[in-house]
Amino acid sequence: MTEGTKNSVKISAVIPLYNEQDNIKELYAELTSAFYKLKLSYEIILVNDGSTDQTLDLLRDLARQDKRVRVISFTRNFGQTAATSAGFDHALGEIIIALDGDLQNSPHDIGKLLDEMQKGYDVVSGWRKKRKDPLVSRRIPSMLANYIISKITNVKLHDYGCTLKAYKREAVENIQLYGDMHRFIPALTSWQGARLSEVEVSHFPRKHGTSKYNISRTFRVILDLINVKFLISYSTRPIQFFGKIALVILAGGGLAAVGMIWMKIFSGVDMTGNPLLYLAIMLVLVGIQFITLGLLGEINIRIYHEMQQKPTYVIKEIIE
Ligand code: UDP
Ligand code: MG
Repeated sequence: MTEGTKNSVKISAVIPLYNEQDNIKELYAELTSAFYKLKLSYEIILVNDGSTDQTLDLLRDLARQDKRVRVISFTRNFGQTAATSAGFDHALGEIIIALDGDLQNSPHDIGKLLDEMQKGYDVVSGWRKKRKDPLVSRRIPSMLANYIISKITNVKLHDYGCTLKAYKREAVENIQLYGDMHRFIPALTSWQGARLSEVEVSHFPRKHGTSKYNISRTFRVILDLINVKFLISYSTRPIQFFGKIALVILAGGGLAAVGMIWMKIFSGVDMTGNPLLYLAIMLVLVGIQFITLGLLGEINIRIYHEMQQKPTYVIKEIIE
């Protein structure tokens, strides 16, 4: 695409779709009516994430009818994060709006997000204050997840799981998404220095089709959270992360050894028969392993940044 086309699109809506055949028509109608009211130039990027129903055929029809619609179709189901990421990579707009393809989000809230963004934010997240999902399998796990994510990432939002969000293109340009990371996009952008805000958005129960997730997602979120915390806090200094663990373990090993010697001198307990000996040996070995892991991490991070000439900082502007 030429620069001209690139700049003529103001907003790109990015929508991942996996077996959403019964939602597509209404989704498209709602989107076009919402954009019509906003009077901004836009494109709609529909990502077919390996659907096995009629989704792709319907998307094809839309792309044929409307040149503002672009369809990206995956060879198989790669997951919502991959679909979102592909949409971001192909988006031409200055602002990217992500939303669900099942009409649980309303395209009519896009205006609200854009108004908030006008105040100078790079990312505006939707907050489903009145969420229309099952209580036990959804809302309770998600309340817990939101609490933990906000504590651990230090990014203060109420609702990380809401797909409806607006991003300035620069804010997401440099982030890479893996696994199930789409709910951590705000945390990752904030780590790069983006300013975040939040607005209440409406939420609707799913009318057609079924949810693609179940309760097991909650456990996967916990692992992803550890990953994100590590990336955000230690990715340029892994020895600090592994080293801290190593020092605690080595201290434990040292204590065990001291305890063993103490028992030998003052109570005459044989060192070789004392379980503390084995504990000391194990802890010292494990501690050394952790130091080594940290050092390997340091080498990796150098390879990562230097091979790709990726700086370890993000520049906003240079003033001369
Ligand atoms: N989705 C996707 N690939 C997947 C799972 C989900 O593209 O592997 C899409 C799905 O079609 C929908 C959005 O991601 O547009 C959110 O999924 P879903 O509604 O199932 O999640 P929930 O609202 O239940 O959290
Ligand atoms: Mg949904």
